[in-house]
Order: sequence, then structure tokens, then C-alpha cells
Amino acid sequence: FKAPAVENEPMRTYPPGSTERKALEAAIAQMEKELPFEVPCIVNGKPIKTGKTEKQPIPSDHARNLCTYHEADQATVALAIDGALAAKAAWESMPWNDRAAIFLKAADLVSGKYRYKLIAATMLGQGKNAWQAEIDAAAELSDFLRFGVKYVEELYAQQPPRNAAGAWNRVEYRGLEGFVLAVSPFNFTAIGGNLPGAPAIVGNVVVWKPSPAATYSNYIVHQIFTEAGVPPGVIQFVPGPPPEVVAQAIAHPAFAALHFTGSTHVFKQLWKDIAANMDKYKGYPRIVGETGGKNFHVVHASAEVRNAVLQSIRGAFEYQGQKCSALSRLYVSSSVWKGGFKDQLLEEIAKIQVGAPQDFGNFMGPVIGRPAYDKIIGYIAKAKESGGEILIGGTGDDSKGYFIQPTVILTKDPHSVTMVEEIFGPVITAYVFEDEDYEKTLELIDKTTQYALTGAIFSSSRAALLTATNKLRNAAGNVYYNEKCTGAVVGQQPFGGARGSGTNDKAGSISIYYRFVSARSIKESF
Ligand code: GLU
Repeated sequence: FKAPAVENEPMRTYPPGSTERKALEAAIAQMEKELPFEVPCIVNGKPIKTGKTEKQPIPSDHARNLCTYHEADQATVALAIDGALAAKAAWESMPWNDRAAIFLKAADLVSGKYRYKLIAATMLGQGKNAWQAEIDAAAELSDFLRFGVKYVEELYAQQPPRNAAGAWNRVEYRGLEGFVLAVSPFNFTAIGGNLPGAPAIVGNVVVWKPSPAATYSNYIVHQIFTEAGVPPGVIQFVPGPPPEVVAQAIAHPAFAALHFTGSTHVFKQLWKDIAANMDKYKGYPRIVGETGGKNFHVVHASAEVRNAVLQSIRGAFEYQGQKCSALSRLYVSSSVWKGGFKDQLLEEIAKIQVGAPQDFGNFMGPVIGRPAYDKIIGYIAKAKESGGEILIGGTGDDSKGYFIQPTVILTKDPHSVTMVEEIFGPVITAYVFEDEDYEKTLELIDKTTQYALTGAIFSSSRAALLTATNKLRNAAGNVYYNEKCTGAVVGQQPFGGARGSGTNDKAGSISIYYRFVSARSIKESF
């Protein structure tokens, strides 16, 4: 048995008047007509309406809600855990071909039948423009599922290379004993699919708590899993009050692993909570997380200016800077800054349109919600107070949606608050260094923050790239040369960082699947 050859899902570009543009516009219009949707918990294949409801507002138009969802209460979470454990034996013993077929079918449903619906839900609910939603909810999500099958096949094929005479050694890769808790973020619908999907494909049962701000798109993903044939109980969908659902799952004796994407602060807290429950568990839980970032671009004196400008704008402002990988610290050598970089940067940013994502002319949409809006505006104020100069932007308008203008802060203090803390919004803090201080600046970059997710170096000098590679060995899990620090592609750039950015288990690669299997070696003598 060999799974079909796998390619990245080709991306659609939605040119005006095209069939794909019309189909997407129709899906958005349909969704706007039918909203607000009602989203239940899904436990053991059945909807549960707990009556404890919350709303998912549309960030570009906060008077409207995309959905009302039923939060999981204690009884629902308990039922979800019990049901998952009861589903485990049959799921794990399903032949690999059949498990694989389910995920290949799910990928086809994502890229086919549900493509525009998923994109529309991601645009309306999470505030992405069509192209950002295409990258995420269509391409990356189906890639995670298809490449997942390929990687797991490779993993299962990892067998001991030697057998002594009269014996056969083999290794069996089993799902973990117990259940996996998946806690997913708002910013990628694809991550919503991958956090429960990656453990499930290797035979685990999963209790999945999606982000409140991505409930509707994630609910569609769950429906896709079901339609593709994931049996009842294998992936339990329990939107809920985040601390309660998570605390209850972690306190359960059958808790076997956490698959998390979210903030560094929450992940550290969960790590401590897991430690506090340690004596209840049968084994040592696996803890896998991708957390914050404070990602950098370094523009060396030899950089190609135009490219560095455009890549910096895309890295910082696509999806309003709400990618863990987004650019937020920009270090530019003085000759480049004065030699056109600054002028071109400001000139291009001035052209950016900010508004509702359903209007295809808008490059930027809203930030995700009220707390995010207040936090980002608060950081801009703090930067001003501490001597930062706002070169462009710096303002917001929350009257209808949570819109913030693309903002560049120039600082003379490389340790100023917006250089160090994660903002998760459309804000660049720029620091200009003397050309001869390149190496010193690299050392500074390495030491400025607790994070190590992504970074990019812009230079046409191989020596300068090499110096950066060596000096920044531990400063980023994903490094780009002459390209923006966002946009890792499944199967092309395994994604993840170390230090305060996570356990660096590399989503979109074979590594992640190893974390969710427990191997058993068998030696048979004849
Ligand atoms: N993988 C995405 C990228 O490379 C970021 C994922 C995230 O924000 O967690 O841009």
C-alpha cells in the first residue's frame, strides 16, 4: 500500500469577474443572509445544546454575530472524555489504509465541496481577506491533511534495519494511552484542523477546544471530519469557556497529551497545571505547543531595497499582523534606511486600504476583537510615551469594526517596550543601526526577547548571510533569506520555534507525528 503522490494545493487568485471570485462572493452573500448560525458541542457524533451560549461577533462589523455557540459545561466535557476513550480501541485498530482514506477524503472536501464556505467563514469570522483565507482555510488545511497521510506512512515505515538470524524485529507505532487535548487559536482555520487532526491520524482520540473567535469555521472543519468518516467520539468538539474546559481535561487521569497553539503565557500556565496533576496520570503527558513570537527582519547594507520594503510590509501587515510569525521588529542599516528604504516603506504603506474583508480592495481587515484592539492601541500609546516616533498610522477606528491603521514606530531604544513584547497587531517597530554595527546588531537581536519563532535577513552578500546564520543560531525556528518571515508552507518549510515560542516540534513536517505515538518494539524468534 502506498498513498497517492502529494502536492501542495494550488492557490486560487480570485481575479475580478472570474468564476472563482463569483463563487466566493456567492458563498459570502449566502452566509451573510443566513447568519447568525447556531453551533452546538458535538460529542459522540451528536449535537449537544447546553443552553449556556456565547456569541462570535464579526470583527469588521461587531454589531452582527456570525454564530451563537453552546459552551461545553462540566457534564458535556466529562461525556466527551468518556466517549473519546470508548471510541479509542476501534479507531486505533482500524487498518491504516482506511484511516488514511478518511483524511484524504477530508482534504478533498476542504479543497472542493467546502472550499468557499470555509473561506467565507474565515473571512467573516476571523477578519481575513480572500487571499489570506485561501492560503489558510483552503490550501494549508488541505495540505496538513494530505501531507499528514504521507508523513504517517513514512513514520510507520521506520523499521529496525537489522534482524539477527532466526528473528524478526519490528516496531509498532500506537496512539498514546488516554486522550489528547487540542486547544486551537483563532488566527488559522488550518491550525484548528491540524491540532486535533495530527494526533487523530496516528490513532489518538481527541477532545478539541477551538478558539471562541474561530468557532464557526472550526465547526465546519469538524463537520468535514465527520462527513469524511472520522467515527463518532474520535474528535469531540467542545467549544467552551477556555479555562474551565481545559482545566477539567487536564485534571482527568486519562489525559495523555496537549496539542496547543496560543499565547506563551497560557502555555506556560498549562505546563504548570499539568505538573500539578502529575500524580494522577498513568504516564508522562506529551506537551506540544506553538506560542508567541517577536519576529525580526534585518536589512543589511547590501540588501535589495525594493524587495526588503515589500517583504517587510507583507510580513508585518498581512492579516493585520495576527500571525505568530508576523514581522514586528525591523532592523535596518542606516545607509539603506536613508537610501530609499524609509521613503518607499512609508509611500507603500500609505496606499494600504483597511476595511471589511468582503470588499476585495482591502489589503487589511479588522483585528480580532475588543481586547486585541485595546491592547494594540495601548502599545502604540506606550511607544509614544517612551519616546517612539510614529512614522505612519498609529490610529484606529472601532465604531463599526476593530480597524487599526498599519503603523510604523521608529525607536532609538532597541529595548523599548514595542521592541520586546509581542503585540499581535499591525505594528512595526523600526531601529536603524550604523552599517558597521551589523554584527553587534545581530547579537542584540538574539538577546532582546524571550521568543525565537521567525526571522529574515535581507542581503546580497553571502558573508553577511553566513554571519547572521551563525549569530542567530537560536533566535528563530524559521529563518528566511531575502523573503518575509511569514508564510511557511506545509511540506516545504517545517514550522515552529524554540525558547518562548514553543516546543519546536515543526508543524507541517514528519516530526509532529512522532510526538503523538508511543512505539512498541517486538522481537519474534523463529
Ligand atoms: N505558519 C504560519 C506562517 O508561517 C504562522 C502560524 C501561526 O501564526 O501560528 O506564517
